[in-house]
Amino acid sequence: MTNFPGIIKSKLPRTGTSIFAVMSQLAVDHKAINLSQGFPDFEVSPELIDLISHYMNKGFNQYAPMAGVPLLRERISEKIEKAYGFKYDPDKEINITAGATQGLYSAIACMVRDEDEVIIFEPAYDSYAPAVQLCGGTVKYAKLEAPEYTINWQKVSRMLTNRTRMIIINSPHNPSGSILRKSDLMALEHLIKNMDIVVLSDEVYEHLIYNGEQHESVCKYPGLAERSFITGSFGKTFHATGWKMGYVLAPANLMKEFRKSHQFIVFTCNTPVQHAIADFLGNEKNYTSLSKFYQKKRDLFTEMIRPSRFRIIPSHGTYFQLVDYSDISDEKDMDFAVRLIKEHGIATIPVSPFYHKGDDHKILRLCFAKKEETLEKAAKILCKI
Ligand code: PMP
Ligand code: GLN
Repeated sequence: MTNFPGIIKSKLPRTGTSIFAVMSQLAVDHKAINLSQGFPDFEVSPELIDLISHYMNKGFNQYAPMAGVPLLRERISEKIEKAYGFKYDPDKEINITAGATQGLYSAIACMVRDEDEVIIFEPAYDSYAPAVQLCGGTVKYAKLEAPEYTINWQKVSRMLTNRTRMIIINSPHNPSGSILRKSDLMALEHLIKNMDIVVLSDEVYEHLIYNGEQHESVCKYPGLAERSFITGSFGKTFHATGWKMGYVLAPANLMKEFRKSHQFIVFTCNTPVQHAIADFLGNEKNYTSLSKFYQKKRDLFTEMIRPSRFRIIPSHGTYFQLVDYSDISDEKDMDFAVRLIKEHGIATIPVSPFYHKGDDHKILRLCFAKKEETLEKAAKILCKI
């Protein structure tokens, strides 16, 4: 076919294909062990799969209500109240989304206007900046600071202008595995008090937090809850990233705006999966055991790679582990990661694509949401490099 003959004025001229798609494809092409894109290599609970087929067979196959299946919204409300002591109204303050990605996009689309500024923290998950740019906004980049990828709130305060419309935070944090603590949330709450700034809090890894630490949801802080959208993802919580099922929480007046954009971006999401997850959420053991489950994997994996020449950077949450390879090579992280796939059969994610200027600190991200046997094979390879 011939190409479009006119001029394409790209809305995202500097955006390429997502690093997750690139590295996963390379892993497939070279039959490498894939610790790159974040997804489990083990199965979803058979009970949950049975529930989905049950609801499909029962005829729950047409459009769900725009906001999502009511029972699922009720169950989310109960779960959030139990965990964080804050109640979201299932009718007015909760919306089911096609994964967190669509929740993030719809929240940005309903809030950000031309020339509004949005602050994001780098290294940053890759969907935030393009979503802001597609909506005409300008991204203002702050940096998480070494060695623990923490936020310097004083620096953030100097970035605020009368155009600042939104601040996007993410805890537990992809890719670093850092977490925001009480003092961070209090600093943010204080910083934007009395300003027309909303917070978009990406909390998809809320249940993946280690060493007994507690997830600090923005909804625990009244001054933040009243101005925040929270995104959640059942893909992370139920090991089913391919189902693209998540939710957004926000106070009623923000949710009203959210639904205006949501209804024309996706309108509604997969019906039988919503019913099945509603049932499954009824048993809280189905998600409260996740931290223990993943901490075991993290600890096993880090112990196995400790003898390697990779330096382990502590991970407090998520299913990602950063490693510094500067004792092994001074290659660029992208070149090194590609070589690991081609020569050693192991796929990882270089961290430079999480920075708009491609900052290269010689760090790779490894996903440990894998079976023990996969982690053992991967560790053997890493120890030989
Ligand atoms: N935010 C972060 C930080 C993520 O790591 C992911 C995982 N892909 C998402 C959002 C998107 O989640 P989902 O797959 O539910 O769209
Ligand atoms: N969140 C996952 C990761 O960080 C994958 C996201 C994606 O493939 N878009 O690897």
